[in-house]
Amino acid sequence: MSQNAPHGLPDRIRHFIDGEFVDSVDGDTFDVLNPATDQVYIKAAAGKKADVDLAVAAARRAFDGPWPKLLPRQRSRVLHRVADLVEAQDKRLAELETWDTGLPITQALGQAQRAAENFRFFADLIVAQRDDAYKVPGRQVNYVNRKPKGVAGLITPWNTPFMLESWKLAPALATGNTVVLKPAEFTPLSASLWAEIFREAGVPDGVFNLVNGFGEDAGDALVKHPDVPLISFTGESRTGQIIFANAAPHLKGLSMELGGKSPAVVFADADLEAALDATVFGVFSLNGERCTAGSRVLVERSVYDEFVERYAERAKNIVVGDPRDSATEVGALVHPEHYAKVMSYIEIGKSEARLVAGGGRPEGLAEGNYVAPTVFADVEPDARIFQEEIFGPVVAITPFDGEEEALRLANGVMYGLAAYVWTNDLRRAHTFAQSIDAGMVWLNSNNVRDLRTPFGGVKASGLGHEGGYRSIDFYTDQQAVHITLNEAHSPRFGRGPEAATSFRTQK
Ligand code: NAD
Repeated sequence: MSQNAPHGLPDRIRHFIDGEFVDSVDGDTFDVLNPATDQVYIKAAAGKKADVDLAVAAARRAFDGPWPKLLPRQRSRVLHRVADLVEAQDKRLAELETWDTGLPITQALGQAQRAAENFRFFADLIVAQRDDAYKVPGRQVNYVNRKPKGVAGLITPWNTPFMLESWKLAPALATGNTVVLKPAEFTPLSASLWAEIFREAGVPDGVFNLVNGFGEDAGDALVKHPDVPLISFTGESRTGQIIFANAAPHLKGLSMELGGKSPAVVFADADLEAALDATVFGVFSLNGERCTAGSRVLVERSVYDEFVERYAERAKNIVVGDPRDSATEVGALVHPEHYAKVMSYIEIGKSEARLVAGGGRPEGLAEGNYVAPTVFADVEPDARIFQEEIFGPVVAITPFDGEEEALRLANGVMYGLAAYVWTNDLRRAHTFAQSIDAGMVWLNSNNVRDLRTPFGGVKASGLGHEGGYRSIDFYTDQQAVHITLNEAHSPRFGRGPEAATSFRTQK
């Protein structure tokens, strides 16, 4: 283990099944790297089908136990305790997350606090929850009986792992499901903290289960398990397609939060200083490893040259360095494989567009997955760096003339996750925002989201929406119960030709 590792790391990362930390059935492990050095700092249990089978069986047994039957208030209390416990150790969580992911410590801290907030939010939502009831006067009452679905399979990516896990765990557990979580193999460290947190908060054994491992092994087994009726997945669009196909024979419920290549559209009438702040932050925060990154900045031609110049200046001044340093703005990318991918896009970009900042490894950082914030200008819409998700600190800037061209450029990719629009023209702000093919649009705003709003993408960016009540809907079945208040109005089959189509006379 590297000398600088945080104190108190376990000797290795294990699965958590039925209330116990366990190794893989076959004893297999995989290496976990520290992104700032690329040295192996720990080994993690490599789960396979046998481990997933045990975890699903435990979750299935727990689903027959008390958890799904608790009153919403009782489950809510447990979830608030989870939030308290996460909040109380936010600094420790941030320290571990930074060590494992390479995210700057200040940003990892924000993500830990957001994870607590997700639990608080769903704890509150289930006690305020109301369901539909309809009456047909004198005849019928119909109501919705909302039921948890069973064992929820949760598959998560490596960018902001702990927070994204909370985003699925909180609504799945709040609604009374039991879960099997398969975290990303690049960043398994923080997921094991959930085990202790849930135990201390009073979540019964078997309700939360964790299987580490590779997507093609553990993830695949979870997707194909017949006793897992729903999968909530966040990750690449390509992986989403594979999971979609593998889940099809079982007709599973699927929620897919996938990739993005989101536009930030800056009109000449915008508050350009505010647009600059937001568009720089929008692609370089979280190391650019952000699904909603505004990684294509479209700028109206009359302010284009000045904007590009100032943008490049800002990018050059961004502090890249040790993720644990609170002054760091961009840390180390998660893994050497991902670093190689981002670097290859930078090389592609150099042949496709004009490099105005960055373009490789920053000076003075010889080891680790460091990439200088990289800005390409004059990027053509058919360029690969315009079309493809890079998921790193790399931005493509393109000029446009007028709303029509801006809209064509904004919508001219296969993704449709987020969009950002900067203009002071009220009419344009709304009409333009509504015309963009994106699940979420921010007007004159950075990416700030109220937890009640829908979250999700269109086109290749996703399937279904979570967020607020949509998450409750995804993790529950809404059984419709119909009650007759009068006599049953059934056609009288078997009572002869006349009676067959007539109803009993009503009293
Ligand atoms: P990924 O698709 O490679 O992996 C995501 C998870 O899926 C991992 O846990 C992985 O082990 C698992 N997996 C891989 N193959 C699988 C298979 N065949 N069956 C089952 N599970 C499998 O994604 P990543 O590289 O970890 O994450 C980055 C991607 O996630 C980017 O595309 C990013 O845009 C996207 N993302 C989207 C959102 C969103 O809300 N839309 C949020 C964060 C990240």
